[in-house]
Amino acid sequence: MLEKIKNALFRFMNGRYGTDALNNFLLFASLAVLLINTLTFKSVFLGLLGDVLIFGSLFRTLSRNIWKRQKENIKFMELTRPVRSAFSLIKKNAGDKEHKYFSCPHCHQTVRVPRGHGKIEITCPRCKTTFERKS
Ligand SMILES: [Zn+2]
Repeated sequence: MLEKIKNALFRFMNGRYGTDALNNFLLFASLAVLLINTLTFKSVFLGLLGDVLIFGSLFRTLSRNIWKRQKENIKFMELTRPVRSAFSLIKKNAGDKEHKYFSCPHCHQTVRVPRGHGKIEITCPRCKTTFERKS
């Protein structure tokens, strides 16, 4: 029985796009919007926005136009890169007591320096830009 359902689901999803980072974001955003709306504003507009986000995620998951969905996800990853790299820096700085991590202001390469040397001049290993930071 379970095997049958699994096979049917597999056949149904065959040739369809499935999930990616953008879909996870859409799903998470819609649930957040709907939850906040239910608990506080109870606004028709926010409810509609949550529905649109869920349907967008569902549409993309079941879409057969894989190429177009991949392009959307690449665009999404590009747009969210500054936010994602900022979180990545925070995580690295919290997890390493010996070093401090900075992002090069020119090429955004992550640069690691030893902690506790005061204000130092850092040269980016990739683009050779120099910038001052407190280690
Ligand atoms: Zn650089």
